[in-house]
Formats: sequence, structure tokens, C-alpha cells
Amino acid sequence: MTWQPELTPAEAMSRIAELNAYLDPHKAAAAERGESTWMGIPDRWYDALRWRCVSGHVTRGIIKSEERGGDVCPACGLPARLTFPEDTSAQAGVGSEGQGEGA
Ligand SMILES: [Zn+2]
Repeated sequence: MTWQPELTPAEAMSRIAELNAYLDPHKAAAAERGESTWMGIPDRWYDALRWRCVSGHVTRGIIKSEERGGDVCPACGLPARLTFPEDTSAQAGVGSEGQGEGA
């Protein structure tokens, strides 16, 4: 596994903020539809267990890494968050480093 170099804490925070900005409207839409949530995340997302990392990978699993501060992407080792079940890495969004371009 080749992990990308670690982000500085400031970079990591800004990338996570971008990721949250991508996910928040989906959370809000689910809440508007009356879906039940836990910790602000729709229950449906927990059932699907799909994660998006700050580089734009969407995976079916994450690695728990204490040294990297929690849930990280198995592909690149950067922070990952639970995402909505329909999310795919081809979707434009966070981490547009060549991901989802012209696909
Ligand atoms: Zn990744």
C-alpha cells in the first residue's frame, strides 16, 4: 500500500471541511425527507457503510488509524467520512485531483 504523504494538520482540516461541505447538503436533504439520523448522519448511510476520503476515493471500508487521527481511506491513508449510499468516486466533489475528470 502506498499512502500519500501525510497532510499537515491545517491541510487536513481544510480538506475535511471541504468533504463536510460536500456531504452536508446530502445530510440536510435526508433530514428534510424525514429520514431518521444518528449523530446527524442518516441511518441509511450506516447501513450502506460507504466512505469518501478527502482525495475523492469512495470505498466500502476504512482503516482505523490512531496515528492518523481516526478513520482513513484504505487507498491513500487520508481522512475518510461516511458518505451516502449512492456516492461513487466518479462523482465530482471533494478532492478533484484528477478524480472524476473525463471519466
Ligand atoms: Zn483515498
